[in-house]
Amino acid sequence: MKEKIKEILNKIFLVEIFKGLLLTLRMFFSKPVTVQYPYERREIYPGFRGKHALVRDPFSGDEKCIGCMRCATVCPSKCIYIKREKIENKMIVIDYVIDASRCVFCAYCVEACPVCALILSEDFEYSTYNKEELVFNKEKLLRNWDEFIKKWPEDFYFNKFWQPSGIDPSRWPKTKREQKPIPIRKIEITKEEKRVSSTD
Ligand code: SF4
Ligand code: SF4
Repeated sequence: MKEKIKEILNKIFLVEIFKGLLLTLRMFFSKPVTVQYPYERREIYPGFRGKHALVRDPFSGDEKCIGCMRCATVCPSKCIYIKREKIENKMIVIDYVIDASRCVFCAYCVEACPVCALILSEDFEYSTYNKEELVFNKEKLLRNWDEFIKKWPEDFYFNKFWQPSGIDPSRWPKTKREQKPIPIRKIEITKEEKRVSSTD
């Protein structure tokens, strides 16, 4: 009975509506959690799964991929196609295609790669009206890598999120971004504090 009366009073005095309006009013004066993209941008953290790229060998400049097919086998979307050929006992990757429009960005391909030849870069701004532009071939994937390292010239090979599973992480150097010293925060010391510390 008590509950029923409370419910009726709530309905008469529009309590729920006023609660909602109060919440709206509170949000109106609180700091927004969103940013005005593209005029404002949030920092992208290492490990963000964006545009695919084929890593270049730092010495030869060619792709690092050895055509082992692990990425294509593990891919749940079956959107990786590799054309390879064995020439003089060496596996040559003729073409490597990823259909990014079918990718679910699970990064299984990155994890499965034994030589860290494939990455999901931090670039997420590649929307297009043309679906064909989302089919990346070997040349485009290498270009994606070049574009990516242009943005992070000091920090490319060893993002810890690209390390293939099954390989001891201690064998891989840290990323340069991780190696950067923590910025020093300047703290003002008063004359009195200086005097006290010198007499200690
Ligand atoms: S991120 Fe996942 S879905 Fe996308 S290509 Fe790699 S394995 Fe396939
Ligand atoms: S798993 Fe790595 S090395 Fe093997 S085919 Fe895929 S990208 Fe190339």
